[in-house]
Amino acid sequence: MTLTAITPTPPERRLACAADLAAVSPGEPISRETALRLIQCSDEDLPGLLALARAAKERFKPGVITYSRKVFLPLTNLCRDYCGYCTFRRDPGDPGAHTMTPEEVLAVARAGEKLGCTEALFSLGDKPELLFPEMRETLRRLGYKSTLHYLEAMCELVLRQTSLLPHPNPGLLSVEWIARLAAVSPSMGLMLETTSTALLAAGAAHDNAPDKVPARRLRTIEDAGKQHVPFTTGLLVGIGESAEDRVDTLVAIRDLHERYGHIQEVIVQNFRVKPDIPMAHWPEPSRGDMLRTVAVARLLLPRMNIQAPPNLSAPYYEELVDAGINDWGGVSPLTPDYINPEKPWPHLEQLRLRTEAKRCSLRQRLPVYPEFVDAAAAKSGLLAEKLRAAADDHGLVSNGLVRIGRAR
Ligand code: SF4
Repeated sequence: MTLTAITPTPPERRLACAADLAAVSPGEPISRETALRLIQCSDEDLPGLLALARAAKERFKPGVITYSRKVFLPLTNLCRDYCGYCTFRRDPGDPGAHTMTPEEVLAVARAGEKLGCTEALFSLGDKPELLFPEMRETLRRLGYKSTLHYLEAMCELVLRQTSLLPHPNPGLLSVEWIARLAAVSPSMGLMLETTSTALLAAGAAHDNAPDKVPARRLRTIEDAGKQHVPFTTGLLVGIGESAEDRVDTLVAIRDLHERYGHIQEVIVQNFRVKPDIPMAHWPEPSRGDMLRTVAVARLLLPRMNIQAPPNLSAPYYEELVDAGINDWGGVSPLTPDYINPEKPWPHLEQLRLRTEAKRCSLRQRLPVYPEFVDAAAAKSGLLAEKLRAAADDHGLVSNGLVRIGRAR
């Protein structure tokens, strides 16, 4: 990987970039137009961009980087979509095709509990029963009408029987399903990925992925906003989108957050190539692409939690702190990253050392970010009760194992 800019930078663009960097006002969001120029800055201008992004991060969350200690629960890897970069999904009968049983869910959650995990991340394919009779049969045997009914029950199971807090990522959701899942999980997520409809064209990353139509994903995120559900979203970098698309995706997220105030975190996730995917010969985004995109995300959203997964930028991941992230996302001491199984998460001790080398301390957070904990914990019911037991006065996990002991 190189630090090379996305496109060669002509002298006039360099001058514009330098003027933009000089005009950035700390803590004030930059405009779309400024972002468009900065995301294509030259290697010479990159240190200046990173310095501004890091300064903005330090104004927002000084001296700390958070992470969520989680178990990854791939409830089902059957999916009705066929995204070109996906190594997670399976058809029924494929090697590794699997839908977890309630016993498996509980066993993993309990094992994670012993290791100080506080998040049960449910990742799953989108509505596989609409395409596969085998999934309909599996659900019938389990006693549920749909994958979402099963997910809801498994979130509740984890909530009732462990100290973990569920965070589901089930794909597109209706207004009704957002409300139902919000009753059993303090936060949820849906990657916007991109606002580019060009990726729906034949041969592009989303050409056979009906759930990846940007307008449909924006609708789910907006519907969550109307219900005040703390929501994780983000963009994928390097799946065929342009630099302009990246900026527009970030601006779309910013617009939704300005309207509803519910986006708790923006993930900037880089595409990593794998031998068994349709995009096996697609180029990966460079380190420079990632740093520029993260830095521009920070400057567009100076008071937003910005996350980038460390395992997808190993062995250089600590430089993401220079670009303005304040969170490493979910890291598991137990389960692999089923979405990128060839990229193991760093050992938590390594993560701590590398974070401290960037002059930040590493703190464990809950799946719901501190900004949203008080409102969720003030409600009545089991979810709020569990949340109050799990959070410290700052809305973080005060002391992993000790705190979990109290939550039981
Ligand atoms: S990325 Fe998600 S929606 Fe796309 S194929 Fe994979 S599991 Fe399905």
